[in-house]
Parts: sequence; structure tokens; C-alpha cells
Amino acid sequence: MIPKKEEEIEKEQDIIIIGGGPAGLTAGIYAGRARIKTLLIEESSIGGLASLTAAIENYPGFSEGITGEELSRRLEEQAKKFGTKILDAKVLSLTLDGIWKVVETTKGVYRAPSVIICSGTKPKKLGVPGEREFLGKGVSYCAVCDGAFFTGKKVAVVGGGDAAVEEALYLTRFAEEVYIIHRRDELRAEKITQEKAFSNPKIKFLWSHIVKAIEGDKKVERLILENLKTKEEKVFPIDGVFIYIGLTPQTELYSSLLKLDDNGFIITNENMQTSVPGIFAAGDVRVKPLRQIVTALSDGAIAGVSATKYLEEIRFKGGI
Ligand code: NAP
Repeated sequence: MIPKKEEEIEKEQDIIIIGGGPAGLTAGIYAGRARIKTLLIEESSIGGLASLTAAIENYPGFSEGITGEELSRRLEEQAKKFGTKILDAKVLSLTLDGIWKVVETTKGVYRAPSVIICSGTKPKKLGVPGEREFLGKGVSYCAVCDGAFFTGKKVAVVGGGDAAVEEALYLTRFAEEVYIIHRRDELRAEKITQEKAFSNPKIKFLWSHIVKAIEGDKKVERLILENLKTKEEKVFPIDGVFIYIGLTPQTELYSSLLKLDDNGFIITNENMQTSVPGIFAAGDVRVKPLRQIVTALSDGAIAGVSATKYLEEIRFKGGI
């Protein structure tokens, strides 16, 4: 069979969006509707971390919930419908060449006067012995991807935020027992999510505990836990451990170009403008008070419109 030829994508674009999560796709919808030549570059799955969420219950208008996969599929369809092209490639660098922003990828070099960074976040690591060694052998950062492997088993979820508690609830579909291991004795997750977890008979809590090590032979078999109040250590037999202790921004490529905060998130103004004219940032990757899908969509819309206005201005001034 002759392999399908990849669609030829022009090297010169008006706007390049880096990252295909909810913020990037929404920026694509808005730029596309403004009839701006827009390219969205995504290196892994369209929808980003959101696409790996089993049930989104706080997305306005969907009181019965919507899966991350379904929402991502719809956003992608809408972005493409309005003309945004999607390239499946990894971004290697972003540099400046006068008015142009040059984006080097694994599938060639593209340039545009305006770039919107929506590269999102990745899960934080615990940094304990065994975490890296047992990745895919009982250590996971994605309940939706790996939960079914633990049918009838005993698993732990580390963390006390929205992600930890929501994913613990999801894991009760498969696992016999789910232990939430949290370093404090109070959860950070939304109250309604906490109530669900407290009333779920499969979920148990290990308060004020931290994981010191993940151990086993060929796969995870036990955790070494420390009780922070008594300082006692104990061996805790377990089949799997899901780690949800927060998010790290994916901004390594931009640290010398843009102003970041102390935690590495991109600093923008309310128009999503970064410290470099023509470069915008939207979604979880930027400094903001609330990281939710609905705020990522809002950022994406603002960034799409701001980038469009920026283009109009430089065209008016004869810059391109
Ligand atoms: P998060 O809100 O930052 O919570 C991280 C949790 O991990 C906290 O409970 C924290 O403990 C704990 N933690 C951090 N470092 C740790 C360490 N080294 N060892 C042990 N525990 C550690 O992160 P998240 O739950 O991934 O959520 C990230 C963002 O996405 C949040 O803004 C969240 O609201 C949002 N989100 C929203 C939804 C939703 O609305 N449906 C779903 C998922 C995520 P402390 O509490 O002691 O700090």
C-alpha cells in the first residue's frame, strides 16, 4: 500500500500555536475564524493533559460531565473546521529573527510574526527511589491510561489536590482498594470531590504520610511510608502507585527568551502578551490564579484575538 502523503504545510504562517490542549485549540478556533493562516504544533496527543481526564464535572453547560477525550475531539474538529492546520511534531526551539518568530521542529522550520505558547504542564515527580525504575511497572501518572491494569488490585494515589482525589475516584472502577496518601491531614481538592471520596467505601486515607521509596522485584510490590507526625516508617504492600502531586510548566525552551516566575510559569498581561512583543502564552503554562479547562479556553480565546490584533498592527505599520 502506498503510504498516505502528509499534507504540505506552508513554512510561513501568520500565527503558530505551540501545544494542542484546550488553550491551544481555542486559540486556533479564534485565529481560524479571523481568517488568519494558523498552524498548531502538538508533539503528542491532541487535548493535552485534559484529554486524559476521565470525567470533567465542572465544565459549564455539561452538568452530567464530559470526558476529556470527547471535549478534546470536539475542540480539534472545531479548530480544523475554521482552517487551523495541525502538525504532529516536537518543537525544538523558538528564536527571533527581526519581526519573525522562528519555530524549529522535528518536521522542519516554520516562522510567523506571532506565536502563542500553550505548552501546558507535565506531572511533578516525587523524586524517591524506585519512581523512575518502576515507571510502567506499577508507577503511573495517568489513571485513565493505566487504571484498568489494576482490576481487583490494591493501589495508592499520592497527593491531596483535585487531580489526586478525582483520579482516586476513577480508580475505584477497577481497583478493590484505593489508598490516598497525603502529606497533610486535610485535602486541597474541591469540597464536592472530597465528599465523594469520603463516602466511597473503596477509598481509604493515609493522612500525614509521605512516600520514602517504591520497592519491588520486577514490578511495584510495596511502598516505604513515613508518618510525618510520629516519624515512624512502615512497609505498605501495594500493586500500583499513581502520582498526582501537582504540575510543572513545560517552559524549558523559553526560559532565556521570556520572563518566567520563580516556578517557571510564563508571565503575561491580561491580553496574554508575554515579555516579547508578538509572543503570547495561554493556559496552564502561564502565571494565573486558577488552572481549569474553562480558564484555559478563556486564555486561548484572548490569545487568539490578541495575536490577530498584533498582526493587523504590524501589517498597518508595514512590518510584513
Ligand atoms: P495541586 O492542586 O497543586 O495539588 C498537589 C497536591 O500534591 C497537594 O495536595 C500537595 O500537598 C501534594 N504535594 C505536592 N508536592 C508533594 C510532594 N513532594 N509529596 C507529597 N505530596 C505533594 O495539583 P493537581 O491536583 O495536579 O492540580 C493542578 C491544577 O489543576 C490545580 O489548579 C487544580 O485545581 C487543577 N485541576 C482541576 C481539576 C478539576 O477542576 N476538575 C482536575 C485536576 C486538576 P499540599 O496540599 O500539602 O500542598
